[in-house]
Amino acid sequence: SKPLLLVLGDQLTFSLTTLQNAPDNAVVALCEVAEEARYVPHHIHKIGLFLAAMRHFAQALREKDFQVHYSALGDADNCHSLIEEAERIAQQYGCDEIRVARSGEWRLWEAMQQRQHATIPWRLLEDERFFTTPDDFANWAKGRKQLRLEYFYREQRKRTGYLMEGDEPVGGKWNFDHDNRQPIKAALDFPELPQHRQDVLTKAALADAERHFSDHMGTLANFNLPVTRRQALVDLKHFIDHGLADFGRYQDAISDSAPYLYHSRLSAAMNIGLLSPQEVCEAAEQRYYDGDVPINAVEGFIRQILGWREYVRGLYWTQMPSYKSTNQLGFERDLPAFYWDADTDMRCLQRAIQMTIDNSYAHHIQRLMITGNFALLCGVKPEALCDWYLAVYADASEWVELPNTLGMVLHADGGLMGSKPYCASGKYIDKMSDHCQHCRYSPKQVTGPKACPFNSLYWHFLETNAERLNKNPRMKLIYGSLNRMADEKREAIRQQAEHFLDQLETSPGYGQPCHT
Ligand code: FAD
Ligand code: SF4
Repeated sequence: SKPLLLVLGDQLTFSLTTLQNAPDNAVVALCEVAEEARYVPHHIHKIGLFLAAMRHFAQALREKDFQVHYSALGDADNCHSLIEEAERIAQQYGCDEIRVARSGEWRLWEAMQQRQHATIPWRLLEDERFFTTPDDFANWAKGRKQLRLEYFYREQRKRTGYLMEGDEPVGGKWNFDHDNRQPIKAALDFPELPQHRQDVLTKAALADAERHFSDHMGTLANFNLPVTRRQALVDLKHFIDHGLADFGRYQDAISDSAPYLYHSRLSAAMNIGLLSPQEVCEAAEQRYYDGDVPINAVEGFIRQILGWREYVRGLYWTQMPSYKSTNQLGFERDLPAFYWDADTDMRCLQRAIQMTIDNSYAHHIQRLMITGNFALLCGVKPEALCDWYLAVYADASEWVELPNTLGMVLHADGGLMGSKPYCASGKYIDKMSDHCQHCRYSPKQVTGPKACPFNSLYWHFLETNAERLNKNPRMKLIYGSLNRMADEKREAIRQQAEHFLDQLETSPGYGQPCHT
């Protein structure tokens, strides 16, 4: 037999199942296809990252004597659809099967499944780069009414032995979140990112991204994502040395000026295969045992990867395809137009979106509590918001983006993922950030021309969704406050919110103004 080993753009590692036990005559294929680059208008950094990283990985494969076919965007015979292109290459090389590991998206996986009995059959393999497989998650989820992260995470700690002393968690607790909620008040010295050198391959890849996708969000002038394993390892070491110690306590903080704070910015490298989640967790754990960093920082960091990252992936694969169309709060609003150009006078949103445009990055709390929270309070429809998150972040892949957007941000899955919606007023943003002092609105006012829009929208959200949410024990306190509010005040808030929503300009569908 002569297999074609198809390596997808987010599977750039020698440890990939597809590349194991490859016969000498196997052909490895990597394909740049326009269909994948354009089905949402991906940020130009994200496209540059994929092109540069894929080309470097193809080179690394050749250096290890693999026979590689690389389809470039500009090739005249490129079919520009992944399935068709792989089949065309398989035919060209006389291959009798196509092997591929699970993709990061249901859409592609389903299309591949449908080709299992094609003339050149597709053989689908599990992607073993995670701590758990979808089957492991399904087994864990079986018979549970609620799928809470906390219990899943504890089981993974026991399974892997990370931060464990026998059966007990190191430090005596599973969770140090209580220590991890400090806002940033003073000007701090945040670690500067390492600057990666751009070699000939990277420069050519970025030039191609520019040539084909200059209409997409962002510019490549400040591109600095790691595109090789070596560069990714530099970023990992840099984070462990300079970011990890403060990661915990400032995990929930938001800054008006600093985009990365003490976050690792390792998600994109991990998601495309340049780093393994195991080595990232092990490096963090080792630094704890070396005595350099506090337990709340390391536990908080490992929880994100061993806990959240695995958990959302398990949820995605066990809930799809119906998950994608759930919309339990019945949201119908299009995405506000300023999500594409940051043209808003709400400072927190302006900064989170501008940083996104600049870097194809925003940290978790910006995604969850600023852009996400605002979309929740306005009732933006899930597909519009999902397309946006999928397009704008360099780390975005549907298996991780969708549960975060649909489940965590929009509470669209009826509480499968989160026990309550992450809704917050301007008061929360004021507490956790230094945005409000630069804003034309006041977080202390609920009505009137200077009132922070988040405030009236917050109460309006609670009111309009009361039927679904007021029985939730975790929302009892807040509904108590709403119910005790004087009728006149309630009416004034309602009018304030409705007036705001009426004049909110929305962009129909995705792709404005950067999609063509
Ligand atoms: P750090 O704060 O340093 O965290 C370390 C690592 O933990 C991350 O690199 C990531 O791999 C993992 N992690 C942390 N939180 C989560 C989470 N909630 N879900 C899964 N993994 C997590 N992450 C993506 O990788 N791709 C996405 O497309 C994506 N979309 C998101 C959409 C929304 C609406 C929200 C609220 C979150 C999304 N996240 C996504 C999760 C998270 O925001 C990013 O992983 C994180 O901001 C990446 O930055 P970092 O590497 O500096 O993370
Ligand atoms: Fe955001 Fe409101 Fe603060 Fe302005 S006042 S920065 S809109 S939370």
